[in-house]
Amino acid sequence: MSCADAPLAVLGGTFDPVHHAHLALARAARDRLGIPEVLWIPAGLPPHRGLPKAAAEHRLAMVAAAIAQEKGFRLDETEARRMEPSFTVPTLVRLREQVGRERPLVLLLGADAFLGLPAWHRWRELFTLAHLAVATRPGFSLEGLGPPLCDLLAARAHQEPRFCTPAGGIHVFPLSAGTVSATEVREKIAAGAHDAELLALIPAPVLAYIRAHRLYLADP
Ligand code: ATP
Repeated sequence: MSCADAPLAVLGGTFDPVHHAHLALARAARDRLGIPEVLWIPAGLPPHRGLPKAAAEHRLAMVAAAIAQEKGFRLDETEARRMEPSFTVPTLVRLREQVGRERPLVLLLGADAFLGLPAWHRWRELFTLAHLAVATRPGFSLEGLGPPLCDLLAARAHQEPRFCTPAGGIHVFPLSAGTVSATEVREKIAAGAHDAELLALIPAPVLAYIRAHRLYLADP
């Protein structure tokens, strides 16, 4: 895909901690959807869920370690440093001000996040600000959806990733990143899992950081 203005992908999350599926999602955007740059935005206080287990400073450092060797990945520390609820629409408004009216923005989401969309603050404004690229995730089916998500897909989904306009479309794509979740990583560490088991879920530099700072232990 070659657009006049290269699209920018946005990957928000708690990243508590960042794991292999997050990287697979960002790599799929870059390598399969043709979006050369992915901006990682760890949340300060994520809305709709409890406090992160690790402090923002640690979650930022872990994302920085995970993406250090990756072409086109960049970390945005703004939300994490604010320590207030990170709502996606205001974040996209801020980004839109930075990149201008024309540059395509593509919000990357796993299927679980997409299913929760109707509960988001000001969610209908999303489509004036960005496209959505929604990755499949085991355990979160996108089949047989009721309103409003089925209407949204009927009106906005396209089979091919078409991200040359600034905003407004939805592209659903298959991702084989497995069932890994940050919850599973935290639970395994608290239960005393060995490094070999954890390396199947998280990158080595992230594990090294977690061990050095004794994160997620049941009894730190
Ligand atoms: P937790 O278990 O703490 O809820 P998580 O593993 O879902 O965390 P988040 O930081 O909440 O991670 O997710 C950031 C983004 O990554 C979300 O859009 C989420 O849907 C997506 N994502 C996370 N894990 C996967 C996965 N295994 N497959 C596809 N998408 C995923």
